[in-house]
Amino acid sequence: VTGLFDAHCHLQDLRLQDRLPEVLFRAGHAGVKRVVCCGTAERDWPAVQALSRKYPELITPAYGLHPWYVRERSPDWLTVLESFLRDKKAGVGEIGLDFALAESDRNEQSDVFTAQIELARRCKRPVSIHCRKAWDRLLEVLEPAGRFEHGGLVHSYSGTPELIPRLITLGLSFSFSGSVTRTGNRRGVRALQAVPLEHLLAETDSPDMPPAGVDGLSEPAHLRSVLKSMSLHLNRTEDDLARITAENAARIFGLAGKDSPDGPV
Ligand SMILES: [Zn+2]
Repeated sequence: VTGLFDAHCHLQDLRLQDRLPEVLFRAGHAGVKRVVCCGTAERDWPAVQALSRKYPELITPAYGLHPWYVRERSPDWLTVLESFLRDKKAGVGEIGLDFALAESDRNEQSDVFTAQIELARRCKRPVSIHCRKAWDRLLEVLEPAGRFEHGGLVHSYSGTPELIPRLITLGLSFSFSGSVTRTGNRRGVRALQAVPLEHLLAETDSPDMPPAGVDGLSEPAHLRSVLKSMSLHLNRTEDDLARITAENAARIFGLAGKDSPDGPV
């Protein structure tokens, strides 16, 4: 096994700050070799950047304005975001649509999402997309713009199996989190089983989405539980899935190519 790859988490989250050394130690002990750490709003982009500079062997940064925080943005938010993308390895995320929010302006969310999609295309970066109860609008936004030449993923995928081929046509892959470890998540399992292996990723969404049996915060070491659940539902070994998901993530985040400074993960 080359090492596990956590395709989506938030190590900059303030809830993890007092325990980060232990969290990173446990991640290493569990075999996690790489994580994508996603920003969520202007206020946490500097912390994501600082972590990615402190732990360049482990952390790939992504910067984006999460749909929950669109109202907090400053007038210059898009320029600020672009300045963080000077780091050529950085992705764009977490971005997306969340229509489960009670108080939200759906058009405002769509506008902010569209601006970031365009930025990702212009800067040739992979995207990390959050989508809850907004699948029709997601496709309305994405399909006219065409394929993401630099790929990306829909994180903690909760859409239907039927949408998967349309999202693949757009160049997207799918990551699954601790939610697939919960008994009763039939919808999640059906989607998991419908994803072609070359588009499959694993994530923890730390510190959220703890796997079943974990009482408290999620952390990258829990990727093992996610892979174990995947292994049961997909009838493949954990090692196989660890390798496949790591290779897929490395390809998307530019860590698999010869011209990458990091080399293969
Ligand atoms: Zn997230």
